[in-house]
Amino acid sequence: MAAEEAVELAAYVNSVGIVSHNPEENISSAYKNLLTSKNIGLTLTRVKEIKGDGGLANSLVTEKGETISFDALFIALGVASSLDFARQLGLETSGDFIKVDNNMRTSNAKVWSVGMARGGVNQIVKSVGDGGIAAVDIIKSVKGLPNYIDHT
Ligand SMILES: Cc1cc2nc3c(=O)[nH]c(=O)nc-3n(C[C@H](O)[C@H](O)[C@H](O)COP(=O)(O)OP(=O)(O)OC[C@H]3O[C@@H](n4cnc5c(N)ncnc54)[C@H](O)[C@@H]3O)c2cc1C
Repeated sequence: MAAEEAVELAAYVNSVGIVSHNPEENISSAYKNLLTSKNIGLTLTRVKEIKGDGGLANSLVTEKGETISFDALFIALGVASSLDFARQLGLETSGDFIKVDNNMRTSNAKVWSVGMARGGVNQIVKSVGDGGIAAVDIIKSVKGLPNYIDHT
């Protein structure tokens, strides 16, 4: 989700802005407040053209004809939101995240959720760790084991 990525980027750069054709209602109120508190501007329009010099993109033109310059461009178009998927599956959520127990099990006994989708620390190592916990629990669940020790 573009809002999540913009908030993450805001920690490293002086200024971040989002250009999106999606309605503002698609952003949760928690993220709207974060965008405001970090001075992340939201321009609601479609991008008509991305321009550059010597192979490097440095500005974009909106469908309204406005030119926006930038030092770096991150494209989040097409990044699916795990929350949309969770809602489709009817999983229990808490705020912007999928609710899980200590083994990463969701409210559906056959669905596990890990990493950013379940909230918490937004770091790769945490997502990988969650994945390990879920993998062990899935093996136990599929094989009907009370414990799992990998002897291979
Ligand atoms: C600019 C930036 C810099 C960062 N720098 C660092 C760093 O230096 N170190 C660090 O540890 N972390 C960093 N992070 C955070 C790190 O990227 C995340 O913590 C990590 O990617 C989370 O991994 P994940 O697998 O939980 O989620 P994601 O990487 O978001 O992966 C989830 C995937 O699931 C897909 N998906 C979701 N819903 C659906 C669906 N319904 N159907 C199909 N696919 C779906 C998404 O498209 C996505 O590809 C940074 C993040 C950003 C944005």
